[in-house]
Amino acid sequence: MEALQQKARTLLESGSVKVVIGYTAGSDAQRARALFVRNPEQAQQLIWDARCRQNLATYLNKPEVRALGKAALVARPTTLRTLLQYAVENQLADEAVLALAVNDGQVTELPTFAAIEEHLATQPRGLTPEQQQELTRVSALPLEERWAFWAAELGRCIKCFACRAACPLCYCDRCIVEVNQPQWIPVASDPLGNLEWNVVRAMHLAGRCVDCGSCADACPENIRIDLLNRVLAQEALTHFGAAPGYSTRKDYALAAYKPDDKEEFIR
Ligand code: SF4
Ligand code: SF4
Repeated sequence: MEALQQKARTLLESGSVKVVIGYTAGSDAQRARALFVRNPEQAQQLIWDARCRQNLATYLNKPEVRALGKAALVARPTTLRTLLQYAVENQLADEAVLALAVNDGQVTELPTFAAIEEHLATQPRGLTPEQQQELTRVSALPLEERWAFWAAELGRCIKCFACRAACPLCYCDRCIVEVNQPQWIPVASDPLGNLEWNVVRAMHLAGRCVDCGSCADACPENIRIDLLNRVLAQEALTHFGAAPGYSTRKDYALAAYKPDDKEEFIR
């Protein structure tokens, strides 16, 4: 924590960044919240512990944050993956943000996409054994049972859109859920419309989601959006070889046409 605070102080004093986006203690003792450090004295409020889960890359999409000037971003591995996915989607220029990876009390500056790629290559990859087990179990359910499971799970949604607000890859200026001519998705909360919203969102994230978990953490209904995302990530990996956020190659699944695609993705 001290190393991170010192790094933020040095970066702000030297003027090499205008803001350090990190975490500080939240009002709820179980959670941290985002902190925008704009002067060296504020750096002492930065924390780094298990509560620092939110993917802070989501703030880089905000015009008011971009207007602050060059940012340093405290980044977990999934946040770093988000930056590379932004590169692929032309949402972020190289060297526009200084990523700060924190490991074992050490802070590593990652100023370029190439440095992020190199750093991620040294980090563990893939699901935990528990996540893999759960994914396998749900995917193996007979079709009717799987449908009943997801219909019940997603039908509990209250359409608060906290998942969308927390997701760094949900950055459209106008979301399909707000389009009313035609009204693709009903405004009111009803089981079918709630399910439609979640399925549409999951499809938009398929092959792009970096499994940061911020959407599920934000959901007041504890809906297993994380599990749904993993189901689709597994499909995208199996059928398209998509592992988003590990490179800046512009070949992500739903934006690249390959003549040998099997077209078995949606059944
Ligand atoms: S869909 Fe959820 S897990 Fe995936 S990138 Fe967005 S917030 Fe993270
Ligand atoms: S955060 Fe949860 S309840 Fe709110 S819209 Fe997303 S899935 Fe639905």
